[in-house]
Amino acid sequence: MKPICDTRPSLLGQTPEQIQAQLASFGQPPYRGRQIYKWLHLKNADSFLEMSDLPLSLRRKLEDHFRIKTLHLVSREVSRDGTEKYLWELVDGLRLESVLIPDPPRVTLCLSTQVGCALNCRFCATGRMGFSRNLSTGEMVEQVLQAQRLSGRRITNIVFMGMGEPFLNYSRVIQAAKILGDPEGLAVANKRITISTSGIVPKIYQYADERHPYGLAISLHAPNQEVRERIMPLAEKFPLDQLMAGAAYYVGQHKRRRITFEYVLLEGINDEPVHAHQLLRILSPIRCKLNLIPYNDAGLGFRAPSETRVQRFLDALLQAPFTVTVRRNRGNDISAACGQLYVKMGKRQRLCLQPLSPE
Ligand code: SF4
Repeated sequence: MKPICDTRPSLLGQTPEQIQAQLASFGQPPYRGRQIYKWLHLKNADSFLEMSDLPLSLRRKLEDHFRIKTLHLVSREVSRDGTEKYLWELVDGLRLESVLIPDPPRVTLCLSTQVGCALNCRFCATGRMGFSRNLSTGEMVEQVLQAQRLSGRRITNIVFMGMGEPFLNYSRVIQAAKILGDPEGLAVANKRITISTSGIVPKIYQYADERHPYGLAISLHAPNQEVRERIMPLAEKFPLDQLMAGAAYYVGQHKRRRITFEYVLLEGINDEPVHAHQLLRILSPIRCKLNLIPYNDAGLGFRAPSETRVQRFLDALLQAPFTVTVRRNRGNDISAACGQLYVKMGKRQRLCLQPLSPE
């Protein structure tokens, strides 16, 4: 019988070479790592015993020393519009969410990178929880594998934009993107993987210099420093002008890319025509797309703008040299905004804490 607090390491989130290195004492041929990796990612195996082309003695040894899945499903809500929201419990009793958004032919999974978040954006339910810990690469990859299994859909797009700030868990997020995009695994097209940041400026430069094949999204949410500081405390450390300089540097390094700027519309805070004009001025020099998101009321003291206000904001952007889209609110009937399901279900006591170090 396995102990209640199972400390066997998971092989998810490891490259074939890393898996091979873990097998060093098992005396296995050099192709085993890749064989196991394919079972985990391509065939979405739940147990080592399923791995029928491995010797039975090895399967048993693997079962004794390692595990595969570590996320326990606490709840799954399916919206009328097909959006699915999952609440998972980790081995240490902490909880996190992922959201699956079908929009044929695309199926997007918005996955979490941290439990809670330290950035405390004022309009965000996750920000109110504070920060607990970084997720491991395996815990990120597993959100995709489990969502694929539960929904019965092939996930075509990945956005690192659920709970947490991905660039504060940088190296693990990059490794997760590599594994998710690996043609020998889940094989999500690199251009359909997007990493989102709220504005950790030094990491934008690092990401640009490392020339990763994935997209970049920036949660902007404000057209000037004053509004940004009011709703995103992070702006005091990384002011708007520095953020925009980092964005310009990124598109300068990637001649065929554009950045997606996310902008949540909060009634009376950032949704006036004057804000749209300011936005036009700061975004026009950058190759980008603007995604407007009418606020999904999370009961945090902010209000969703009316249709009329959204339209007025859009009208003020008519001359924009970049694409502007308005995201329909998805999953309104299932608390699909960031952190809402977690808050609704409440926290549970931790079972055994295995913290991951900060970046
Ligand atoms: S919006 Fe994103 S970065 Fe801001 S507190 Fe929420 S999870 Fe963190």
